Amino acid sequence: MDIKYDIEKNVIQIDDVDLYPENLDRNFIGLCNSCDSDVISLSYHSYDGGMVVVGQCNSCESLYAIFYDEEWNWQGEESICDFFDLNNSNNIRLLNNIDRKKLETVFTPAETNALYAKARGEKCVRQYLYRARKKYNDFYDLFGIRINI
Ligand SMILES: [Zn+2]
Repeated sequence: MDIKYDIEKNVIQIDDVDLYPENLDRNFIGLCNSCDSDVISLSYHSYDGGMVVVGQCNSCESLYAIFYDEEWNWQGEESICDFFDLNNSNNIRLLNNIDRKKLETVFTPAETNALYAKARGEKCVRQYLYRARKKYNDFYDLFGIRINI
């Protein structure tokens, strides 16, 4: 199971599926495996007919994903060590869903590379990114797809 968390937006990603929070209640949900301090919930998500709760240790800040069935029986837990940025992740999916030929109709290869780099959270050549941004409206007029990277 591949688990990532966007700690800013409280979205958990399990095996590449984004799960938005059902609520952000703060409750005591157990003890930390590494330091025995209290683990407090950050977000509750529907998952697989039950729930997954993300909790954080209030001392060492370790993050856990704790799985429950529909009757709140504990099903297991995983440490969360990977993080992602929901915006970047959505931008990459957007770009991947656009036919490369469409991108190349409007953007130069250098601008296209800058868009991908920015979406991945990597360094990009700002000059090309700015040029690309000026063409978002053209792209929208042509293909009806709104880019906002
Ligand atoms: Zn801890």
